[in-house]
Amino acid sequence: MSYRGYDIVIGLEVHAQLLTASKIYASDSTKFGAPPNTNVSVVSLAHPGTLPKLNKRVVELAIKMGFACGSQITREQIFDRKNYFYPDLPKGYQLTQDRTPICKGGEVVINRDSELERAIRLNRIHIEEDAGKSIHDNQGDTLIDLNRAGVALIEIVTEPNIWSAKEAGTLLTEIRRLVRHLGICDGNMEQGSLRCDANVSIKPEGSSILGSKVEIKNLNSIKFVQKAIDFEVDRQIDVLNDGREVRSETRLFNIDTGATYAMRTKEELNDYRYFPDPDLSPLHISDEWLKKIKADMPELPWVIKSKLTQVYGLSEYNATFISESKERVTFFYEVADLCENYKNISNWIMGPIQSFQNNTDSKNRPITAKQLAELINLIDDDQLSFTAASGTLFQSLATNPSADVRTLAVDMGLILKGTNIDVDALIQSVIQDFPDKVSAYKSSKKGKALLGLFMGELMKRSAGKLNPKELKQILVQKLNEA
Ligand code: ADP
Ligand code: MG
Repeated sequence: MSYRGYDIVIGLEVHAQLLTASKIYASDSTKFGAPPNTNVSVVSLAHPGTLPKLNKRVVELAIKMGFACGSQITREQIFDRKNYFYPDLPKGYQLTQDRTPICKGGEVVINRDSELERAIRLNRIHIEEDAGKSIHDNQGDTLIDLNRAGVALIEIVTEPNIWSAKEAGTLLTEIRRLVRHLGICDGNMEQGSLRCDANVSIKPEGSSILGSKVEIKNLNSIKFVQKAIDFEVDRQIDVLNDGREVRSETRLFNIDTGATYAMRTKEELNDYRYFPDPDLSPLHISDEWLKKIKADMPELPWVIKSKLTQVYGLSEYNATFISESKERVTFFYEVADLCENYKNISNWIMGPIQSFQNNTDSKNRPITAKQLAELINLIDDDQLSFTAASGTLFQSLATNPSADVRTLAVDMGLILKGTNIDVDALIQSVIQDFPDKVSAYKSSKKGKALLGLFMGELMKRSAGKLNPKELKQILVQKLNEA
């Protein structure tokens, strides 16, 4: 896929803050939003003589990401010091992994099951610590908050095999979905728990030699990643078309202008002089430990999706919707344990439940797994019509989480006794047969008197087998919708 006669080549470096309660080498809390410099022990402050102690959970969460990406797990690891000076880095070095990243290789598939599907290869995933935060106030002062110093990160480094800004955005979306699904990072880009550096180069279409790359640092939204890449590609093409060379440099993205601007060239870059940290002993990942982490892995999203289509017979569309959220999947399985009408379970989740959540702007589910199973079973048993179930009954259940569905339906007069009449279809047929009466009913107060006519017709057509009270409720609802 070429653009203005050039191929675009992108590699991403994604930093994900791990969901550990304490920091990677100290017991300080990692809670976001605490007052500045309150989560800072002597270790975070790098007091002389303090020693780091590795938080094992960091290792476990990083390995989970490696498993999900099919990476090779490095069994013998060391931690390296990356030396540089920065005011929010009190130690004067960052602890990271240079030669022994915890995961090597692997891939993240984007646009799965579509024509655009591609496996984006990973170079590595390594663990490292975050730096503190410099806050530039409006009086020209810089304030330092070290709460974040020493918070655990993984850095996911892709190979340069992303071909467009769109693909980069899709990849980042997929990574965010994956880390959330695994429960290893909250994926919150606004708070900086997920951040991305984008490396961008171009080469003449079809050339096998990579151009020199520009690294755009610290992009904190998927939209900005795409905008920054788009801008950068055009800028680089203009430079080459002008007969000049693209300088290998680090640039920043200005969210107000949508432009990137130079921060430092590669020549000015520090020599980090990586060397093994003498305070941390090498880390060995035993077979048992690895097995335990594997046993703790949740089912992966694409495995869930194919299970939903293959085992539960859901359509591609429904399976995609359900598998998009861990909560929906868990709920689906819970209901599926109690009710075998899997297709209808998914329809209820996508229909009435989703509308309820959209309307109330809440993540709370209006109905328990047991209640939904019972609802569907009652409908399948012809004891309840779908209209009644998804209308008045559903509304009552939403405010009544402990209610027994059958009892409530009986109390509300909604249970159809001893018939297997399709009430919805019956009402529909009457509505179709009397279009004039329906519009008269709907257009004036006086027309409401026609309800008796419809009721009479329905009782006749059902040979009087239906419960009039329930029938009337559904009829009114259907007429209003007609
Ligand atoms: P550096 O030594 O400058 O840090 P690396 O080889 O470690 O570079 O790669 C860093 C990131 O840059 C990786 O995500 C990689 O995929 C990407 N990258 C490397 N070369 C290119 C290139 N020519 N164009 C675009 N991205 C590249
Ligand atoms: Mg590098």
